[in-house]
Amino acid sequence: MLDQGQIRTDASSETETYELVVVGAGIAGLNALSAASEYLPKGARVLLVDQKDAPGGMWNTAYDYVRLHQPHPMFTVGDMEWNWRKPRNYLAARDEVQNHLSSSLTPIGAKVALETEFMQTVARCVEIETGQGPMAEIAFHPNGEPGTSKTVLTKRAIHASGLNYALAQPLAFSSKSVVSIIPQDLRMTLNMHPGAAVVVVGGGKTGMDSVLATLAADPTRRISLIQGRGTNFLNRTKYLPTGMKRWTSGELVSRLFRDLALNFDGDNEDNTLAHVRKNHSTDAGTDNGVFLYGLQSEEELAKIMAGLTETFADYLVDVADTPEGPQMTMRSGANSVVPEGSIFVNCTGSFFRDEAVQDPMPILSPNNCVLGINPRDGFHFLTSVVGFFATHLLYRDQLCGRGFYTLDHEALFRKNRNAWVGASAAQAYMNQVIAVQTLPFMLLDRCGLDLDRWYPLPRRMAGLMRMKASATRDIAHCRRTLDRVAGRFGVHAGPLG
Ligand SMILES: Cc1cc2nc3c(=O)[nH]c(=O)nc-3n(C[C@H](O)[C@H](O)[C@H](O)COP(=O)(O)OP(=O)(O)OC[C@H]3O[C@@H](n4cnc5c(N)ncnc54)[C@H](O)[C@@H]3O)c2cc1C
Repeated sequence: MLDQGQIRTDASSETETYELVVVGAGIAGLNALSAASEYLPKGARVLLVDQKDAPGGMWNTAYDYVRLHQPHPMFTVGDMEWNWRKPRNYLAARDEVQNHLSSSLTPIGAKVALETEFMQTVARCVEIETGQGPMAEIAFHPNGEPGTSKTVLTKRAIHASGLNYALAQPLAFSSKSVVSIIPQDLRMTLNMHPGAAVVVVGGGKTGMDSVLATLAADPTRRISLIQGRGTNFLNRTKYLPTGMKRWTSGELVSRLFRDLALNFDGDNEDNTLAHVRKNHSTDAGTDNGVFLYGLQSEEELAKIMAGLTETFADYLVDVADTPEGPQMTMRSGANSVVPEGSIFVNCTGSFFRDEAVQDPMPILSPNNCVLGINPRDGFHFLTSVVGFFATHLLYRDQLCGRGFYTLDHEALFRKNRNAWVGASAAQAYMNQVIAVQTLPFMLLDRCGLDLDRWYPLPRRMAGLMRMKASATRDIAHCRRTLDRVAGRFGVHAGPLG
């Protein structure tokens, strides 16, 4: 789709032209659009295209009980404030997030002449050579109607298709006497089957949300959790303390990233994971083996632990009907009978669900006409952060040649998840330090996504000074680490430009 190697010269002079086309109206595309609108001439013609019927990306289609895991002010577009007076630590719900993201189009529309095309699929986004020099060519069509394609030209395109989350499918079982659903159907199914036992399959954020949603609907239900290797969550109580504790306790999140980045040397990923669990997670006493940067409070963990009837550190293979009742078979060979009519909720991996690895997409096309925000050549594991920083840096001509690293997150994640944790922390910290050296403080301070903004300004300023003081040494460590990861796993990690 993002075939940037292609150079063509057949663009018709009749084709509509834009200053900027953004593909993808999730938080990444919206941050990119907002950042770019600061550099474009007032009233510049800009187009935003998305397959969904509204802005907000995955927050349009996620399960209805999903909440932000970070405080809502830190999930935004640019530095746009939320239009309400809820406590800062309030964790916004799905529709609230979607509304907030949608509302970002109003201030953006006051700066540029913004056109939107929803329910449209972009089939091509390439850099081409035209009579006016290199441009990006975008071809899109109404969803499911490839025959009615429209092509436009633009000086710049930002392709922010996110991780393209596909909806999960219910797990397929031999048993005919259990109910198998996806999280999107949990609340309705609980209503339709009062008292039925619930089996949550998957111990990540969706699994934890599903346990909490089930408990909220009916605290007396029998709930089982099949959690595989078990997931570690960053301790929100520790890292985002409330009230006066914001002055006296906790730790800047950038310091946490530094700690992870310096702990990992490119070879010791299992130690790094153990370090996360011991020092930063809600549940240091476990041997949970997965970490995906999810946040959890100590209170949430206590609620979950108190509400669970049983936990399996295993993987579910099948449920089959036996004379004793429906029986679960695990990957380890263990069996366990569940009550008839049990509800199985598929909360297994949201990331890279497809068997096939996405096609490689360079972050930049040869003449910088197309910026690709994608996991194959990623600037940061959070696409929202890429939208903000990579776009500002691109328009300021500071993205290349500064030492920023890109990393093939998807390939590394598929090869070794723990190495991905260490490498993504090293990259995130190193790129942040280089951004701090490159961009003016006034601009850095307008990144609403920065979790350090939770803390009062004096603590943040002190953190910034510490970051600058150790910058040279820290960058050298992160670079060595990422180079080692690239060599060891045969995945791309290297300097941009
Ligand atoms: C269940 C769940 C909970 C999460 N919770 C949090 C959280 O609490 N905090 C947090 O920071 N992160 C969270 N995340 C991570 C999440 O990735 C980010 O929050 C973020 O919303 C992703 O934004 P995005 O713009 O990259 O992708 P998306 O939101 O997926 O947006 C990409 C958009 O691009 C469009 N698109 C893709 N391809 C095309 C095409 N060819 N043509 C047209 N349009 C296209 C899609 O329709 C979509 O609207 C969560 C993820 C999941 C799955």
